[in-house]
This record gives sequence, C-alpha cells and structure tokens, in this order.
Amino acid sequence: MHYLDRAHETGFKAKAFVRAAEVVKSLPAGEIEERAKNNTLKQLDGIGDSSAKVILEALRDDTTYLDKLDRETKVSMTPEGQKFRDALRGDCHLHSKWSDGGATIEAMANTAIALGHEYMVLTDHSARLTIAHGLDRKRLLDQLADIEKLNKKLAPFRILTGMEVDILEDGALDLEDDMLARLDVVVASVHSKLRMDRFPMTQRMLRAVASPHVDILGHCTGRMIGKRPESEFDADKVFAACAANGTAVEFNCRPERLDPPEALVAKAIAAGCYFSIDSDAHATGQLEWQPHGCDRAAATGVDIDRVINTWSADDLLAWTNA
Ligand SMILES: [Zn+2]
Ligand SMILES: [Zn+2]
Repeated sequence: MHYLDRAHETGFKAKAFVRAAEVVKSLPAGEIEERAKNNTLKQLDGIGDSSAKVILEALRDDTTYLDKLDRETKVSMTPEGQKFRDALRGDCHLHSKWSDGGATIEAMANTAIALGHEYMVLTDHSARLTIAHGLDRKRLLDQLADIEKLNKKLAPFRILTGMEVDILEDGALDLEDDMLARLDVVVASVHSKLRMDRFPMTQRMLRAVASPHVDILGHCTGRMIGKRPESEFDADKVFAACAANGTAVEFNCRPERLDPPEALVAKAIAAGCYFSIDSDAHATGQLEWQPHGCDRAAATGVDIDRVINTWSADDLLAWTNA
C-alpha cells in the first residue's frame, strides 16, 4: 500500500493496482508470464479488466510491477526544493494507528529511517478529536511506554514524543499541562469551529501559540483545497506571537492542505518565525510528502536554517525545551 498512500489514490485505478499487486505477489514465479501469454489472467480471483491491464502493462515494460508503481507515484521536486529536502533530518508531525493513522509506530519509523531521517516526532491526536480516536492521558502514557521500548530497538534512530493537540474554542489546549511538559514536541492545531469570526479566532490562536508548551502551529488556516476555505484570523498578530514565543509555523505537506498559502508564508517570514516542514502522514507512503513543503519553502524564500527539522534531534530538543 505504500506507493498508493504516497500517490493518495483512492479511485478505481488504485483498487486495480492493489488487486493486481496482491495477486502477483501470491503466485509462484513464472505463472503471471504464462497466464499473460495464454490470456488467462482474468481467470484469477479478483482480477478484472483493469487489473489485468495493469499487469500486462507492467510485463510489457519489462520491469516489475512495484518498480512501475514506484516510478509513477514518486513525488517530484524542484532543484531548489531538493536543497531543503536534503537538509531535513526528521519529520515533526505524523500519526500512527493509535489515533487515525493506518500504520504502527514501528512501520512509520522504519519508513522514516528508509527515507534517511534521524528522528521523527509521533504526534497522534488529542482526546477531543474523538472521530480520529484521539488519545487521552491514560492512552498517551501507554504510548510513551511503547515509544521507550521502540527507541531501544531502533537506535540510533529516535522517536521523539509528541502530540497534535487540539486548540479548543477558547484557545486552551486539549491536554493537561504536566503531560504537555513531558512531551518532546507539541504541535497545536485547530480542528473545530474553523469558521469562527476573525476576532475570536485570532484570540484563540494567540492564546495557543503563547503556551510555553507549544512548539509548532499546525496547518494554520485549516483549508482543504477546493473543499474548505481558509479560517479567518489576523495573521500578522498570530505570526508575531509565534516569533515572540518560539512557536514554529508548519508547512503542512498534505496535498489537500498545503498550508500556509504563499501570501501567509511571506507574513510569517517578515515576522521572523521559525518553520517546520512536516508530512502530517497518516500512512507510511505519506511520509514521502515532504517535497511538497520543500518546494513551497524554497519558492517563498524561507531561510533553510530557520527550518527546525533541518536541525539535529538534540538541537531541536534544546530549542523546544528552552
Ligand atoms: Zn491536524
Ligand atoms: Zn495531523
């Protein structure tokens, strides 16, 4: 599923790919070629016209099916964006099965390692987001114990502890202070009442980013491209508060978000903000979405040294704990 996660495909073609991949993997060597020759692919369980076509194309290309998928779904990058990607050492916003992600923490970590990362911050949702199976205090404590074990197994790679904490309507955070203080990195995001009036929304965000526990402001406008407009708030004020309180502004790399919009990035740069470039991955393949944010950071003139996940884990922790 990794490549399909990366491609973010959910339609007909994706299903055909998945079926084809599963069937191809389950057959003994040579059988696929034999069936392609005799035109009997469609006698296999679950293989219809589109899946058969995918398999035949892959065979004609004289390549393996997975290579083909790899090529077709790879996220492209500008040369300027590549410089940012090369500089990234970690990812500060991603989810696991503990909340609404599709993969285990270990699977996410192994993909992050394969992508060359030195660390990742696990930021599952907080309790208020029940639709995403958000973690309450008790489950978060269980998760922290789990991460401790995984860190022994995966060293020198490091899983930093964290949470994507909901910013409640009054700007309070959806987790107790002592737990917030315990976490390595805290991402705070608005997930509810996104259409709130400009003034209360500004107050709400100001309060959240001023919390000494908050390190990153997640997907600040909440937009879903083509589906949901940007939330309205006084960006100059909010980014000035981010700069003053050491809260980084996130480049959210999900293709449907691509937050913040370019005009707001210019304001955040002018305010003197730090940035993070995060996948907000909910599946292993989505960890490969950072190029979206790298391209946008490069295009908007962000200073690469102000991107906090280009720093080592120790430097990042020194900054978030300061
Ligand atoms: Zn979020
Ligand atoms: Zn998230």
